[in-house]
Amino acid sequence: MLHFINIIMILNENIKYKVGRISTNRLRKFGYDVHPGDIIVIPIKHLPKGAAIKVKCKCDNCNKIYNEEYRYLQQRKRAIKFCPKHRKENAYIFLSKRMKNEDPIKKQNRVRAMKLYWETNKKDRRDFLEYRWIVLQVTQTWKNEINLLLNAKKIAYTLDHKYSIWEGFKNSISPNIIGHIKNLEWLPKKQNRLKGKTSSISLNKLNEMIENDKC
Ligand SMILES: [Zn+2]
Repeated sequence: MLHFINIIMILNENIKYKVGRISTNRLRKFGYDVHPGDIIVIPIKHLPKGAAIKVKCKCDNCNKIYNEEYRYLQQRKRAIKFCPKHRKENAYIFLSKRMKNEDPIKKQNRVRAMKLYWETNKKDRRDFLEYRWIVLQVTQTWKNEINLLLNAKKIAYTLDHKYSIWEGFKNSISPNIIGHIKNLEWLPKKQNRLKGKTSSISLNKLNEMIENDKC
């Protein structure tokens, strides 16, 4: 028999569950004579909503069976009804649909951020955040020079790293180069958002400018 919770197809009929202190009362209401710590086999529908138990689900796209924690199935995130592979594909579609009436730049950035999230593994994401933090520390050391740059302190202008922090991270460039004053410019907020993770100059050009600055 198949169970449908929200819109997800769950294949398990019964499941082994270790009774916790909080779920004891709930289960007693269903007529179970249980005590905290008991291990019982119950129908899926009697599981507490927050149960961190993996259940078998069937992908809406490819019918492949995948495991997902029961508590996540309660969150009504539509992507969860797909196997990990199709979750990714469907996530872009859902996002685009949901942001149908949004500002195109905002939409583009959200999709880009989502792609970044899906396409880099956990460790890379953490490393990137660390790298960006270091670049921003280096950037801070140029505080005085930044305020003298063209368009500094203008309303709706934000500081941009011409060769992007993201590409600096990808290509293992020293944060001292990415955070260097020669890599900084003030851009209109909108233009900077459009630029996102892309670079507006080449690394060679940047290195050249930094070299010339030393003379
Ligand atoms: Zn699938």
